[in-house]
Amino acid sequence: MTYLRPGIAAMKGYVPGFQPDDIASWIKLNTNENSYPPSPKVVEAIIKELGTDGSSLHTYPSASSGMLREVAGKLYGFDPSWVIMANGSDEVLNNLIRACAAEGEEIAFVHPSYSYYATLAEIQGARVRTYGLTDDFRIANFPDRYEGKIFFLTTPNAPLGPAFSLEYIEELAQRCAGLLVLDETYADFADRDALELVKKMGNVVVTRSLSKSYALAGMRIGLAIARPGVIAALDKIRDHYNLDRLAQAACVAALLDQDYLRECCSKIRKTREWFSAELRTIGYSVIPSQGNYVFVTPPDRNGARVYDGLYSRKILVRHFSDPVLCHGLRISIGTQQQMERTLAVLKEIG
Ligand SMILES: *Cc1c(COP(=O)(O)O)cnc(C)c1O
Repeated sequence: MTYLRPGIAAMKGYVPGFQPDDIASWIKLNTNENSYPPSPKVVEAIIKELGTDGSSLHTYPSASSGMLREVAGKLYGFDPSWVIMANGSDEVLNNLIRACAAEGEEIAFVHPSYSYYATLAEIQGARVRTYGLTDDFRIANFPDRYEGKIFFLTTPNAPLGPAFSLEYIEELAQRCAGLLVLDETYADFADRDALELVKKMGNVVVTRSLSKSYALAGMRIGLAIARPGVIAALDKIRDHYNLDRLAQAACVAALLDQDYLRECCSKIRKTREWFSAELRTIGYSVIPSQGNYVFVTPPDRNGARVYDGLYSRKILVRHFSDPVLCHGLRISIGTQQQMERTLAVLKEIG
């Protein structure tokens, strides 16, 4: 394949979590989707935007997603010039790398966290460094001055669950020569977030997603909050119509229905705490989680065995073959009923 850049020909490509064809017959707890539906107001807004004959679809959507930036800015306490909308937060992660890391330059992230950062860097020809975690949930061997172009910090951490403290994140920002990107995909499920650091520290960017907490993974909506200079750069390199009309309508309705979000997240948090406590009573170790998932280790530390047992009973969870994770499983927190069934099956499997 001589047409291809050598780096692209050689790369493996990211493998997303398994999406079975007969999705309805599974309890699907492998990709941290929300098991509850999105706000009914979102559904109404999509139907209204579509119209009865789809006549809205023949014109392009707003290129800037201007109304969304206003609504998101108001919600989070930022001027719209500090906000950019994205076709899933994956798009904005990609564009941050494209904006900041030239070929041969370095980006870094915590291992384990979201390995897609590495794929995005690979496409760009950037180098990747990873840092492990200490037992007290700090970054191991983080240098006094990190000279790479971007450090991605997933907080709350996925797949493990804990969030980093505000004080610690601020210290990391001071030690980063480049951007510190806080991937706050799961912040809506957490006790607190680190948004205020975007104002306080010149190099902090926060990314958010509507895929998980707002139950809109199928719509592909994310956003970033950063200094206007960074936002302006991201605006230059994104696809100009990056959010379609239906996504824009859905996004406004979703962000405006904070009551629904709060109620949904609080149900999931409650189930998360219940499920974690129940698993501990049957000898599992469960890392305290701030997300809509828990990382759990069975008593025999054989994650693959339990994965297979669940799979054969049509419950899908995430097992990572990575040596630092293969002893356990990441289980998304679904409805209370789904988790009761999952617990019963785990007891059966032993
Ligand atoms: C799911 C996830 C994303 C991707 O979010 P989208 O908005 O669906 O693109 C990004 N980061 C982390 C850590 C995630 O778990």
